[in-house]
Amino acid sequence: MKHVVVIGGGHAGIEAAYIAARMGMDTTLLTMNLDQIGQMSCNPSIGGVGKGHMVRELDALGGAMGRLIDATGIHFRILNESRGVAVRGPRAQADKVKYRIAARHLLEHTPNLRLRQGMAAALLWREGTQGLRGVELLDGSVLPCEAVVVTSGTFLNGCILIGEKRLEAGRAGEPASTHLAEQLRSLGLRHRRLKTGTSPRLAKASIDFSRLEVQPGDDPPRPFSFFSPGIPQPQVPCHIVHTTRDTEAIVRENLPKSSLYGGHIEGVGPRYCPSIEDKFVKFPDKGHHQIFVEPESLETEEIYLAGLSTSMPPDVQVRMVRSLPGFEAAEILRPGYAIEYDSFDPLQLRQDLSVASLEGVWFAGQINGTTGYEEAAGQGLLAGINAVRGLRGQEPIVLGREQAYLGVMVDDLVTKGTDEPYRMLTARAEHRLGLACDLADGRLLAVAREVGALDPAELAQVEAKVARRERLKVQCEAAWVTQTSPFGAIAAGAGLRLEAGLSLSDLFRRQQIGPAEADACLGLLEGWDDAQAGWTPATERDLLLFDLRYAPYREREARLLEGQRAWDHVRIPSDLRVEHLHGISKEVLEKLALHRPETLGQASRIPGITPAAVTILHLLIHRAR
Ligand code: FAD
Repeated sequence: MKHVVVIGGGHAGIEAAYIAARMGMDTTLLTMNLDQIGQMSCNPSIGGVGKGHMVRELDALGGAMGRLIDATGIHFRILNESRGVAVRGPRAQADKVKYRIAARHLLEHTPNLRLRQGMAAALLWREGTQGLRGVELLDGSVLPCEAVVVTSGTFLNGCILIGEKRLEAGRAGEPASTHLAEQLRSLGLRHRRLKTGTSPRLAKASIDFSRLEVQPGDDPPRPFSFFSPGIPQPQVPCHIVHTTRDTEAIVRENLPKSSLYGGHIEGVGPRYCPSIEDKFVKFPDKGHHQIFVEPESLETEEIYLAGLSTSMPPDVQVRMVRSLPGFEAAEILRPGYAIEYDSFDPLQLRQDLSVASLEGVWFAGQINGTTGYEEAAGQGLLAGINAVRGLRGQEPIVLGREQAYLGVMVDDLVTKGTDEPYRMLTARAEHRLGLACDLADGRLLAVAREVGALDPAELAQVEAKVARRERLKVQCEAAWVTQTSPFGAIAAGAGLRLEAGLSLSDLFRRQQIGPAEADACLGLLEGWDDAQAGWTPATERDLLLFDLRYAPYREREARLLEGQRAWDHVRIPSDLRVEHLHGISKEVLEKLALHRPETLGQASRIPGITPAAVTILHLLIHRAR
């Protein structure tokens, strides 16, 4: 029987192991410390705009993160609510302690999945690098397998830094993974040092919450997962505070002591999660910065300060924190720190996230140069799916950029690469109007069927939901808004124009109808009141209206995409020697050699590859056949 080993019990590893086992594959999750499965190294929260979209997508394919955050979330908010269906995204504070327990519990109760504590030291192949045969642990034992998914996060040659102090570690209190890192380097994979940082954690009792701005969660909270029964945990508020002139003065005066600014770090940091040092230096006119005060758990008295990531020495961190209003007596439980680690150039990966030069090896998560739990989880899911499909001799699942944010992320990584920690943003998705997170289950239904990880009841739930929406859309097209129809009475009452031959869907598309009138119209449709698990009628209304309004735009875009999709199906032979191609500039040839695109579509998306070069390449592929 074939076997997959997943190295790492972080957010990528959880998904890779869970999906592989759900697909029926014999799977082992090997991780350094079983008690740290699902540990949130930094912020105790999941989701946000773009990131939340990916959680919904991985949930639609059978992943774990949406279910885990619903089971353990203590503060849920939909971000960008007022900016419309396409770009709003769910976010939740996790009870970090319960999240870890829930993740381990889920994995322990998943059939086909075994957990194993240990440190992976080396990957073993049969002869040379042909045919993977297993993973060797630091204690000398071997876990036999034909495929391995490496999800080692920030642990490869990890080094944490506080002020001038430097300590080998994968995360605070956990060892670095050096043997595996050295083996991967020695196999000739291109690597680089990246860095990230985290904020100090404080004692709750030492903060005067009466001086902070309260940030309530949504009431009622809306689940992440399409399959969650609800939100079981009690909900609590978060708080907001702003840095002061004193905070800025303390940071500026101590910049040479910061690991980041004292020249103690060579790695490249995340542009979109800057440290507080970075914020004051790069935005000198901003005055003050917003800090979110977030509970880490209902089980502990620990508070996280989102937005105050720092690598200052501990005594400076105390002064910084105490300069915030309400924090004059604050006690630090764990100081913030920066971490520097090895990551591998994702241009060395195929579109299925396997390492092109190593047989039977997939990489997912922070190791590929991304940052964030959701980015890691999304890659873990796809790497897990494709490792199983690879062993079964099936075509990989490669999601299109127009299909999912997960597709955008993987395409960006393997086609353009990244030289700084990559984080998902809605701006990265050129087709984002078609990628609304609330519609991810229906949009990815065909892929979910192909993957085969959802159970029959879950599939049936999505099928029923999609069928209901289609039925309602047909009814909207067929309902006439005339002087004598009940829809006409509602529209006229709201001061809307009753044009001749107006259908209900035309009304929704062409005129600004208010939510109350839209609800009144929809309430008249047959089947509108059928219950939908987890969704409010207001969400259903917004989704239906969005679907109707943007249908013409999406149809136009789909026609435009036809051409591009055709290119995605033209495979570039792996033995095509690009250096022998004539009629293509040296610069383009160098890019092709570096990026090794697998399809013509992928080649066309490499920055600097011109449409003319793609046409010539097409011709040459054709001739080479
Ligand atoms: P991780 O969650 O790091 O999990 C890696 C797993 O692999 C661990 O379980 C580890 O024990 C295991 N492992 C490693 N090597 C081996 C081995 N040889 N054998 C067995 N097991 C092994 N993200 C943000 O989005 N914003 C931030 O501001 C941010 N700040 C961060 C600050 C710090 C200090 C750290 C440590 C991380 C930060 N992150 C941040 C990153 C975030 O934690 C990661 O993006 C995310 O956890 C990556 O998930 P992963 O599954 O790839 O790796």
